[in-house]
Amino acid sequence: MGKEKHTFCPECRKECSYSFKKVMKKCIIKEKEYDIELTRAFCDDCGMEINVPGIIDLRTEEMDRQFREKEDIVSISDVETLMEIYNIGKAPVSLALGFGEITVTRYLQGQVPSKEYSDIIKKALREPGYMIKCLNKAKEKIGETAYKKALKCAEELEDLFSLSGKLLSSISYIFEKTEEITPLALQKMLYFIQGIHMVNFGRPLFVEDCQAWTHGPAYKEVYELFKTFKYSPIEDKRFVILRDRFKELTEDEITTIDLVLNSFGLYSGKTLEIITHKEEPWFNEREGLLPDESSNNVISKDEIKQYFDKVNEKFSLNDVEEIKKYIVKQIKGC
Ligand SMILES: [Zn+2]
Repeated sequence: MGKEKHTFCPECRKECSYSFKKVMKKCIIKEKEYDIELTRAFCDDCGMEINVPGIIDLRTEEMDRQFREKEDIVSISDVETLMEIYNIGKAPVSLALGFGEITVTRYLQGQVPSKEYSDIIKKALREPGYMIKCLNKAKEKIGETAYKKALKCAEELEDLFSLSGKLLSSISYIFEKTEEITPLALQKMLYFIQGIHMVNFGRPLFVEDCQAWTHGPAYKEVYELFKTFKYSPIEDKRFVILRDRFKELTEDEITTIDLVLNSFGLYSGKTLEIITHKEEPWFNEREGLLPDESSNNVISKDEIKQYFDKVNEKFSLNDVEEIKKYIVKQIKGC
C-alpha cells in the first residue's frame, strides 16, 4: 500500500491512487504517422485518465526514442559516446564530420538528426578509420590541439580493433546475446566456435590463430583488446564499435555461435579453461612446458579441426544436447 501513487482526481474530486498503462497511439512526426507506445495514468477509482507530475516529459522521451528507433536514427547518448571515445568537443566533432559548427550542440539538446547526418555519426562510431579520414580533412578548421587529441584516440582505437571482420562480428554477436562475459570465457568460447564451425561447415569462421597460453587457448588480439578487464565482465564505451557488427554474420555462422552459446556458454570461464586443458590441441602444444610457463606456441586450425572431428564421431557437434554431453564428460574427466 505504501508504494501506491496518489494524486487529485478531478472526476472523483478527491485524492485517488492511480496506475500507469502503456497505450499505443498514432502520432504524426515530421508529417509521417507512427504507432508509438505511450505511458498514460488512470485513476484507480473511476478509471479516467489523469495528469500526473512528470508524465509529459516521460511521453516526450518515449516518443523521441521510438521515433529514432523506427527511423534508425542515432540517440543523444550515441552522440555523447562519439565525443567520449574520440575525446573531442561539440564544435570540433561537428566540423570534423562536415556539419555546421553548432549542429552537434543542437543534437545534444534534443534535435533529431537527419537520416544522412545520423548515418555519418554511426559510421564514425563504428569505424575509427573513417573518423581519422574526417579529422584529416577538417584539420585546419578544428584546430591543432583538438585535432591531435582526437587523432590519437582514433588511431589507438583503430589499432585495437584491427581484428578480422569475422572475429569482430563473432564477438559482437556474443556481446549481443550474453548478459555479461569475462575475457577468459570469451577466449574459450571463440576457440570452441572455431572448432565446431570447422567440423560442421568445413572451414574456419575467422582467420586468427590461438596460442597455447597457461589458461588455455587464447587469441592474442582478443587479449590485447580486453586485457584491462582481467577477471571482470567486459564493459566499455569504446565497444560501441562492435555494436551491430554481428549483422555481417551468415546464417551458418550464427548457427555455430548459437550452438556454443547454448552449451559452453552456460559455464564459467574457469570451467571452460579446465575443459580446454583436457583437450589435445592445447596440451599437445604445451608439451614440455611447466604449468605456469608462458608460451606463444600456435595451436593450428588443423589441430583444432582434427581434434573436434574426433569428438564429432562420439558427440554430434551440430546438436546442442550432444555438445552438453561432451562438456559433462570433459568436466568429469572420464
Ligand atoms: Zn477518479
